[in-house]
Amino acid sequence: MSKLTATATCTAHAAVVEKTGQVVPQLLLAQRVAWLAGLARDLTADLVAARWNAADLDALACGVGPDGRALPAKGWMAVRRLGWGTSLAPGVHVCDRVVRCAQEQAARSLRLALHRRALVTAIVATWPANSRARTDAEWQALRAVLPDGATPAQIRNRTRQIAAYRDEHHTFPADLTDLEQPPTVAAQIVLAAADRQLVTLQRTGDRRACVRVRLPLVACPASAKEWAWHMLPLALPPTVPPQATLCTPTLRVRKGRVRVDLPFQIPIGFAPATGHRVGVGFDWGCNTLLTGVTGRLTNDGRVISDGRPLTYDATGVSAKLHRLRSEREQLAAKHRHVERLLAGLTPVDPRFPALSRAYEVLGLEHERVCARIRHLNHALAWSAARWVADQAIAAGATVIYLEDLATLEARGRRGRANARLSGQVRGQVIEAIRHLAAKHTIAVVTVPARGTSKYCPRCGDGTSVLKHCPAPDRVAEQGWAWAYCPVCGLSCDRDWAAAERILARGLLGQDLTRTHRATGVRTIGKVVEGNVARARRTRRPTRAARRARRTRTDLPPRPAARDRSKMRPTPKRPTRAQNRHSANDPTTSSHVPDRRTVPAPFPAGSGQRPAGQAPQAPRPPAGRTGLARDSQHRTGFHRVAATPVLTLGEYGAAPHGHARPTCRESSGKHRESQTLSWNIVSASIR
Ligand SMILES: [Zn+2]
Repeated sequence: MSKLTATATCTAHAAVVEKTGQVVPQLLLAQRVAWLAGLARDLTADLVAARWNAADLDALACGVGPDGRALPAKGWMAVRRLGWGTSLAPGVHVCDRVVRCAQEQAARSLRLALHRRALVTAIVATWPANSRARTDAEWQALRAVLPDGATPAQIRNRTRQIAAYRDEHHTFPADLTDLEQPPTVAAQIVLAAADRQLVTLQRTGDRRACVRVRLPLVACPASAKEWAWHMLPLALPPTVPPQATLCTPTLRVRKGRVRVDLPFQIPIGFAPATGHRVGVGFDWGCNTLLTGVTGRLTNDGRVISDGRPLTYDATGVSAKLHRLRSEREQLAAKHRHVERLLAGLTPVDPRFPALSRAYEVLGLEHERVCARIRHLNHALAWSAARWVADQAIAAGATVIYLEDLATLEARGRRGRANARLSGQVRGQVIEAIRHLAAKHTIAVVTVPARGTSKYCPRCGDGTSVLKHCPAPDRVAEQGWAWAYCPVCGLSCDRDWAAAERILARGLLGQDLTRTHRATGVRTIGKVVEGNVARARRTRRPTRAARRARRTRTDLPPRPAARDRSKMRPTPKRPTRAQNRHSANDPTTSSHVPDRRTVPAPFPAGSGQRPAGQAPQAPRPPAGRTGLARDSQHRTGFHRVAATPVLTLGEYGAAPHGHARPTCRESSGKHRESQTLSWNIVSASIR
């Protein structure tokens, strides 16, 4: 059993002073927490700024203290071992535990900087001839010295940063401290480093907990008398299960409220890297965010997928994000422009007040648009991840295969077409999928992205190249969305084909899965190719078929088809002239009035709703439209259409060999023909 850690953010609305029983309202509580967080921030900032030099960073990086012993893993203990002190203005009394919290925060901040420092050192040491494009040899040299866990985006951004520094100073930065100022320190108090002299935490119910913390009663407490124990009751969000173990929180103040970042741990099962029989594979799509398939590995090592593509289509949300991003760029440009104008004016200038007001408004608006984008990205990522996890659970899968973003980005695949959904959203989606899958003991493994949509998933074991065209009926043209295999005749959505190939790479190459020791991230680095057959789920035989089997009789014969042969002339419809006499009667008129006298009926289904209040139409009857509406509801977005999560049981052909469609049989059409599926069903009946 391992543990999964997550953080729930709660709000403390009021508190009680333990000694006097006095109720502290929200505003006053926020003030007192802000004082504590401010004290911790001052201590941390002092420490970080004092140690922002190469010698001290070296001392922290080498991992060995001055006494020759290894530095402790806990940040505050490492800082104390190194003898790095910090102090406040004279006359301010803080207990040692507050200093400890500040040292912990400083250690975390400096240890994060060590990673950036290693990255910068590696890039400077292997500076390429052309900083915009490294050759293969230069990439190899760089990868040999890079620290663990460096992403392509980090390499790109740091390379740009160093190039900008070199253009300005005509030399390379000697260290990270040349390149950057000391990191800014947030006003928060990391209580995890403290003990019961500063904080205690108790669970008071399934949905309730109580934080007991010592807070200052004034901004600059002069003695221990100006500190008091406060009880902060918390309501836990429903994401925290009753059996979760609560950990010591971090306190901060945001928008006048006391926010309590409460980490909690839940026990999770172990998801093995190998031995998977049923899995789902997902491809990052162009128009759809995710396209996936469910598949099964048979005993003889073949991959059979059910013929159902799973799509999460976020076109509407990504278009919204695109609009917001361009709005953000425009606002930033205006903001910079006004800033330049203001720089050339003196405060006595008559134009100054209006411009400075515009500067403020633009800055605020820019911040709001940034927050909107951030929230939308976050909501989209979690919605998509929830959907992926639900599909995997419904299919009974024990593993989720995804494309490795590192290999996807390095080649710049799909260029502008995919720029709408940034790599950042994808990173968030992967993180969210890992989190949700871990809760259900499902492994998440990434496979190489190279060539997933290039080769046919149905034939050739990864050698027959697919042709990409705009649509199934325009095979001769060059296009993007549709894939066609000239060898076996497969014709299907490009992303669907890619998802099948990802699934095959995962299920067939599971013995090559590697697990990162520190992060537990699982990857398959080598490509193992194999074909994927499509088979429908077996259906339960009908009652008549079951009876026939039981009584060992034949199925009753099908009734003869209706005779459609043309034996008589088509009867004439009444002409308009014949109709005219009845047209005078308004009750029988077949004419639609030119102008509507009542509003048009609201179209049922998933069309775009006009602006304004939603019409109070009755729910559509169960059926296709009902499903579409439900699926939209489930994703949390109006404009996202995702395949509904259905539990369809075991799928694929029956175990006896001849019932499985061979490569030749299952090829051909977008969806299997009715004949094929009927063949499989009848085969499993016999
Ligand atoms: Zn093929």
